[in-house]
Amino acid sequence: MTHCACVYVIAVRFHPQRFPSLLSAAAKTFPVISSNFKHQDNQWNKTNMVDCLGSEFLVDEKRLNEVLDKAKAFAFTKGICMQSEQRGQDGTMLTQHYPFTLFPSVVPRTCFQEAVDCMLDFNTLIHKVAHDHNFLENALKNVLEVDEFTQGLWKIYTQVREEGYTQPLSLGLFRNDFMIDVQDPDHVQIKQVEINTIAAGAASLGSLLVHLHRFTLDILGKHYNKEVVQDIDASLGAAWGILKAWELYGRKQAAILFVVRETESNIFDQRHLEFKVFSLNPGVRVLRRTYLDIYNGASLTEDKRLLVDGDEVAVVYLRAGYAPAEFPTHKEWGARLKLERSLAIKCPSIQYHLAGTKKIQQELTLPGSVEQFMKDPAAVKRIRATFVKQFRLDLGPEGDQAVELGKTHPDMYVLKPQREGGGHNLYGDDIREFLETHKDSKERNAYILMERIFPKAQKNYLVTPGRPLLLSEVTSELGIFGVYIGSATEEKMNMQCGHMVKTKLFGKDEGGISTGHACLDTPFLINEDQT
Ligand code: ADP
Ligand code: MG
Repeated sequence: MTHCACVYVIAVRFHPQRFPSLLSAAAKTFPVISSNFKHQDNQWNKTNMVDCLGSEFLVDEKRLNEVLDKAKAFAFTKGICMQSEQRGQDGTMLTQHYPFTLFPSVVPRTCFQEAVDCMLDFNTLIHKVAHDHNFLENALKNVLEVDEFTQGLWKIYTQVREEGYTQPLSLGLFRNDFMIDVQDPDHVQIKQVEINTIAAGAASLGSLLVHLHRFTLDILGKHYNKEVVQDIDASLGAAWGILKAWELYGRKQAAILFVVRETESNIFDQRHLEFKVFSLNPGVRVLRRTYLDIYNGASLTEDKRLLVDGDEVAVVYLRAGYAPAEFPTHKEWGARLKLERSLAIKCPSIQYHLAGTKKIQQELTLPGSVEQFMKDPAAVKRIRATFVKQFRLDLGPEGDQAVELGKTHPDMYVLKPQREGGGHNLYGDDIREFLETHKDSKERNAYILMERIFPKAQKNYLVTPGRPLLLSEVTSELGIFGVYIGSATEEKMNMQCGHMVKTKLFGKDEGGISTGHACLDTPFLINEDQT
């Protein structure tokens, strides 16, 4: 009974169009953000968390340490944690708190809303791109000449496509990442950094952090409206999507498989999601296996049902398999192929994985690309409004022009290879050096050049294990979570289900949390009368 009630509320919040009769009930639980707010960019431009909290924020050292102490304890008690790289003497797992900001960071409400409002459009766009073979092939063909990892994915894609997809449905748990660009103070805009289609993390921890931030604000006696520091559990949406896919598979005894790394720092985020699935439907088993486990212990029946150590699997959720290092031998590749050929619903399917590559995202910014997939002009507008320019670097005159741009103004661009997970992009002088050295090399086909987004700096405290606490200049990246289920011809689910923020030191190029470059954060929504 409790489970049913919970699921209704999520569905309403996430996709109101689908459940109009339940809207009034939902409005009580999830206040609707007003859409008639008049955005005054230049006013926000002067605002940051220090302004929002005023003198309460800049407390003396003793008080600050007290807040810090309580915040860390709060993080541990709520499981806002990560597995340490170090192990105890007997090999036991050691835990540390997840890197987090002590307070939420200021985000203008209209920018936040724009990011939320385009999520259903992006879900649909990625799904359609993933089902357009010609687009994928044309976009990726030059990358495939030089990038071994993309070749590995493409080989699997080609094989399952030629055999005929056993499972027509794909499940997408996407995270669309944005920064708020303030280059032109009179025209502050939300701009897309990237959309993640594989192993998008922090749905669970991001949602838990809201409670920590409300707690730290409460300790300082800061009054805030709950709608300003919103409590939306993205992991509920993700769990709901996984269970919906499980239900569509249609076998009550079938399990859900999380594919994970042997050692994983981000294990708490994954476990929270697993337990959320369990809390929504305790009757469904969740298994965790590595690619090697799957190579050794999984098989396909004649009708391509996936059996893992004897258990049938309905849904495969990949939290691993986006980095070349995870495929050291043919065994890991064999395991990914086995999963892909099976009847299980994959999150992501190989075509969703390919549709999330940096190259595809660059091709989508070109004139006519989005329009080819999205027929609603309003949806095209919402999507395009978030794009900065991106350029091909393929050998040839068009690529040469982009090479010149990058060399002449390296600080205005980011150079991206076909990699996920942080730490692979090039910035500043490294861009110039790379482009000079690879001027006549095909290797540059595997890279794209993206205009740099310049987010506003504000002040916050970064609470990172092993580092001192300092009031620092920071910048933030907002991630919006989306869930999609569909086949080439039919949409089964399309929803937006929450958000997270990651915040890094101002002036740092990279911003991954698990790579130690950023801290988990939440948005503190402001509008004009708060500036
Ligand atoms: P990854 O798959 O490695 O996460 P991203 O495209 O998200 O790749 O880039 C990693 C980080 O680099 C981002 O979190 C952000 O901090 C920074 N970054 C990426 N693109 C841009 C951009 N266009 N402008 C400014 N910073 C960027
Ligand atoms: Mg990223």
